[in-house]
Amino acid sequence: MDVMTWIHSGRCACSAVTFRLMTQPTDVIACHCKTCRRVSGYYWAATHVARTALVIDSDETLAWWASSDIAERGFCNRCGSSLFYRLHDADRISVAPGALDGPTGLATATHICCAEAGDYYRLDDGLPCHSGPTVNG
Ligand SMILES: [Zn+2]
Ligand SMILES: [Zn+2]
Repeated sequence: MDVMTWIHSGRCACSAVTFRLMTQPTDVIACHCKTCRRVSGYYWAATHVARTALVIDSDETLAWWASSDIAERGFCNRCGSSLFYRLHDADRISVAPGALDGPTGLATATHICCAEAGDYYRLDDGLPCHSGPTVNG
């Protein structure tokens, strides 16, 4: 195990899934779509790295759920932590910043899918708020 080059370590709540990010991840994007709200219980947010930069050291309880035809979500099937999201045809992967061992040094940069936001919070932090699923839409 090369411990010299990782930037962040992370784990699920029960520590059965552990991973490292080998490059600095992006700032955090919060997604307010209905699926993200259901899987997280509130709304989901993620930082991103190249798939090759995510090293999963312990994955015995890591499960993947195909949440749509184009993507799947990784979670711990013991503690329920929502950890990863990946589009089948993308070379990057989304990682839940709450799973990282802090301090992360990350900041939330923008909101997406704001048209599907829940009615139990307010989007009033002054960050960009995109109605669709990308920062361009
Ligand atoms: Zn767990
Ligand atoms: Zn979403």
